[in-house]
Amino acid sequence: MSEKSQRLADLLAKIPVPAQALPSGEGRSLIEVAFLCVLGRRLSESAAEKTLAAFAGVYSDWNELRVSQVQEFQHLVQTKNPELAVFVARDTREFLQEIYQKIHGFNLDVLRGNIAEAARFAAQLPFLGTSIGHYLLHLACPDELPISPPVVRTLDRLGLAKRTTSIKKAQAGVEGFVPAAMRADFAIRMGLVVEKWCDGKRPLCWECPLVLSCPFGKKTEREWKQSQKRREVQRVREEERQRKDAEKERKRAASDEKRRLIAKAKDDARRVRDAERAKTKLSAKGAAKKRPSESGTRKKAAPKKVVHNKATQDAARAKKK
Ligand code: SF4
Repeated sequence: MSEKSQRLADLLAKIPVPAQALPSGEGRSLIEVAFLCVLGRRLSESAAEKTLAAFAGVYSDWNELRVSQVQEFQHLVQTKNPELAVFVARDTREFLQEIYQKIHGFNLDVLRGNIAEAARFAAQLPFLGTSIGHYLLHLACPDELPISPPVVRTLDRLGLAKRTTSIKKAQAGVEGFVPAAMRADFAIRMGLVVEKWCDGKRPLCWECPLVLSCPFGKKTEREWKQSQKRREVQRVREEERQRKDAEKERKRAASDEKRRLIAKAKDDARRVRDAERAKTKLSAKGAAKKRPSESGTRKKAAPKKVVHNKATQDAARAKKK
């Protein structure tokens, strides 16, 4: 084994295998293999196969299934769990929709023997996944190195190949260190790296299992860590600023409250004074009113005096006469 082969084998060993075992391509069309991969995400291997057979028994054309409502075919999903049946039925529709948009049909076997088309197909499959896409690429072209532009980009980042847009040139540069027995594993695991971490524009190198062996990844991880540090400093500053603002606001609210309480106390005191003053005035008025009524008693007695005087005068006059 050459040094590059050994390095590649070591790298592949670091990439976790997909959780689900992929179905064999023996005696199956490529769409059936892809279908089983999707059904196998939520169902056991035998339930996935029975479900596929049930779909095929009712729908003679996958396009009919693609345009059917979930509730029309969810009962065909081989499970006793109705919620799971709905999820599987939704997956089915999404999968068929993706395939239809990619090749305007469902016969993936047209890709067999056509590495350029198969590579184009495998390169971008958001729902099916690039790992399964590259497995299908390997099944479609078993005698060729299963390589696509995103895998070439990843190999270039890893320092294992030169970047090129020509699949043939890329194959020529790489196939020397990918033995035939390693091709299926190479397709599935490198597809997984592309799918999960090695995005063209935003690779997640700091999460990638290959980062310690990847020159591009190390640089990206270093820059990411620096940016994380900067963001952390900014976050701490921002938190401190917010804490100070909150403290200022709290103090301002406390002094406002204090002022309000002082003003209220003054206001209350003024009201009390005013009330006392009003009460004093009222009692003074009351006293003033009382005095005239007392002199009225004396005035009332006056006529008696007049009557008495008059009577006295009348008596005096009568005496004179
Ligand atoms: S470390 Fe980064 S560049 Fe290297 S393979 Fe992983 S994701 Fe791609």
